[in-house]
Amino acid sequence: MLKDNFHRTIDYMRISVTDRCNLRCVYCVPSGGLKPLEHREILQYEEIVRILRIAVNTGVRKVRITGGEPLVRKNIAYLIRMIKRIEGIDELSMTTNGILLEKYAEELADAGLDRVNISLDSLKPERYREITRCGDIDAVLRGIDASEKAGLMPVKINMVPIRGLNDEEIAEFAKITLKSPYQVRFIEFMPFGKEDMWNKEHFISSEEIKSIVEQIGDLIPAKMRKSGPARYFRFDGAAGVVGFISPISNHFCKECNRLRLTADGKLRPCLFSETEIDLKPALRNNSSDTEIERLIELSIAVKPKSHSVKIENLLSPADCSAMNTVRNTHKRPMSQIGG
Ligand code: SAM
Repeated sequence: MLKDNFHRTIDYMRISVTDRCNLRCVYCVPSGGLKPLEHREILQYEEIVRILRIAVNTGVRKVRITGGEPLVRKNIAYLIRMIKRIEGIDELSMTTNGILLEKYAEELADAGLDRVNISLDSLKPERYREITRCGDIDAVLRGIDASEKAGLMPVKINMVPIRGLNDEEIAEFAKITLKSPYQVRFIEFMPFGKEDMWNKEHFISSEEIKSIVEQIGDLIPAKMRKSGPARYFRFDGAAGVVGFISPISNHFCKECNRLRLTADGKLRPCLFSETEIDLKPALRNNSSDTEIERLIELSIAVKPKSHSVKIENLLSPADCSAMNTVRNTHKRPMSQIGG
């Protein structure tokens, strides 16, 4: 197992298989849309599998498929099947908006997918459509059902609370866990995307989100086998758990074990750093596995100790627009990096 310069074991790779998405969430995709990558720029499935076969040598054991929306890429179950066959990969999961899950859940489970995280930012049909600019919430709810039936468990539902957009639904989301065995996780809004929504007014810290959830009832800390960066709790007698993920208010960089591979073949050691190592030229110029392994090791070697985005960086909306710049946010939106 390879450790980075700060004694962290890097055993987790998140792989974006496309930059395209069938939704255009207001806080993720700019209103004018994004110019999609051309087909030849995107890694082929065989290239992704080759990278992973080599990454296993450096210690990668866990893989998450993401995007864009991974389920819009053709024949995604084929990739899942190939990854599942790689010796050394112990865990294979996917992050999806769930719109196409009803159609694919069984096929994915059959191909070897272990579980899914489903992104859902509103339980109200109208608001869901507004946030996603086009989404049908019924499709997502059917997708959640389908993944449970297909055994893609535990189902995790990820919500990003944003003040003024969906914060009044925080309690409703937490209540889902009273009856359903799901993990409902609240993720702090992060500074990505071109439109400067990430400001003091919109951001809600995990601490505040938790205090809203606690109005329903006392939260008991829940010990989970693999909790990752989330802190989990449950209501007394509840079927599921609620989780809080605090990339901004409480950095988990010390435990960060991940690398990200973008759809166009760049290894990104830290979500918040623009440093990327391009694997595509090596893949397409007949480089040896040893040379590619060296590039993976390099991306582990340059993984920063921590990111520097803090609550103190938050500006008022007026200051954001006065700056008329994207200084506050990162260049690529999450849909391009792979959330
Ligand atoms: N399409 C898939 C989905 O919706 O889950 C995978 C890609 S999407 C970019 C992954 C996750 O990133 C979603 O849960 C989305 O809510 C989250 N996300 C996007 N922009 C974000 C931001 N600025 N802060 C926090 N989460 C964000």
